[in-house]
Amino acid sequence: MIEEVPPGHEHHTAAGAQREPGELSPFQAVNRFFEQAADHLHLGDDLRAVLGCAYRELRVQIPLRMDDGSGRVFIGYRVQHNGARGPFKGGLRYHPAADLDEVRALAALMTWKTAVVDVPFGGAKGGIICDPLTMSPAELQKLTRGYLRMIDHIIGEKRDIPAPDVNTDAQTMAWIMDAYSARHGYSPAIVTGKPIELGGSLGRAAATGRGLVYCLAEAARSLQLDLDGARVAVQGFGNVGSWFARLVGVLGCKVVAVSDVGGGVSDGRGLSILAVQEHARHASTVAGSPGTEPISNAELLELDVDVLVPAALSRVVNGANANAVRASVILEAANHPVSFGADQVLADRGITVIPDILANAGGVTVSYFEWTQNLQQFRWDESRVNHELQKTMSTAWRRVHERATRDKVSLRLAAYATAVASVATAERLRGYI
Ligand code: NAD
Repeated sequence: MIEEVPPGHEHHTAAGAQREPGELSPFQAVNRFFEQAADHLHLGDDLRAVLGCAYRELRVQIPLRMDDGSGRVFIGYRVQHNGARGPFKGGLRYHPAADLDEVRALAALMTWKTAVVDVPFGGAKGGIICDPLTMSPAELQKLTRGYLRMIDHIIGEKRDIPAPDVNTDAQTMAWIMDAYSARHGYSPAIVTGKPIELGGSLGRAAATGRGLVYCLAEAARSLQLDLDGARVAVQGFGNVGSWFARLVGVLGCKVVAVSDVGGGVSDGRGLSILAVQEHARHASTVAGSPGTEPISNAELLELDVDVLVPAALSRVVNGANANAVRASVILEAANHPVSFGADQVLADRGITVIPDILANAGGVTVSYFEWTQNLQQFRWDESRVNHELQKTMSTAWRRVHERATRDKVSLRLAAYATAVASVATAERLRGYI
């Protein structure tokens, strides 16, 4: 008996958030930012048409024999948005509500993100509709190998390089590397985010959080923000949020609130992040961490802080709460945490938004370093990784900030314009259209 898992839960994001009626789809929303930049650059219709949609979208079925003997068919996607500047690059997520439109939006974000930080990659994303929490490790391994078989013909070390994303990790990447290497010979550069033992890069786990800290440091210098004693609130305490919260103290800030799916905690004097982390290790949530006050996710977003760092879900700052945000700076750690409408409201209110494609690009930057090390069969030490990351983030910040100042536009529009101009130039030089 083969049971089909239905494709496309069109009214959910992969993070499970409901889409409001009339709200732009994730891809429409990302494309609105692209269109603003295209207008700003007076981009021709030909290039707009090329960059406004994905280069290739693959939908595959993955038949699987489950542990209980039943047969199921899973649906997976790989979207390659643009490869003008280098191989397609982007994560692979496993989620019951993964849908093609969101995968497409995230693929486009990768194109713009890799271009902003000037790493020689394009943009891609993958997803499989499944509930990994209900599957055994053996089933997940078979699913991953089955997916690889179905997308093998469009990926490659110099074609498309997957990475971990929601509900996938270094182990998932190890399975992909093994399955791909069995077919093509030893190929560690086929995926990034691998275990260190298989060619993963030192410093990769902390890279996105560390990159956010470097970006905030540059922003403070350019915008004359005084971070000494500045209050910071972080929504999401996973890989990105927890590393950022641990590291941001070096700038003199204090983290006064953190939250996760189980709730949040606050302390106006500054939380001990190591203590919160220790509590979360046992309790699986930051909520209830000793010596702290409880705070809800909604309250955290409206807290009177200097810097708000959404590091969990998409569109958590939206039409319903944009007017209630009291932070003077929003550092976008998550992908697309501010809706298109809210972005306008925040701009009108004079709130500085440091956009996702710049702020959270530390992860893909160190993925690029991992790929480079794999191709060279050479390992960098962690201080070299962090030093190169700092250089990349600082240069990207300066390019974006200079454009924002020169053109008198928001950092978001400046980041998109920088990225779109760079991809458009690559398309023209290659003679694609
Ligand atoms: P993660 O799975 O490690 O952590 C996610 C965190 O969000 C967890 O603390 C979880 O409890 C919390 N969360 C989930 N649902 C929530 C809800 N409804 N309300 C409040 N909190 C909730 O993921 P991550 O790798 O830290 O990624 C976080 C965000 O950053 C995502 O948007 C991701 O796409 C983006 N991002 C990640 C990387 C990376 O390198 N990991 C790079 C760029 C962007």
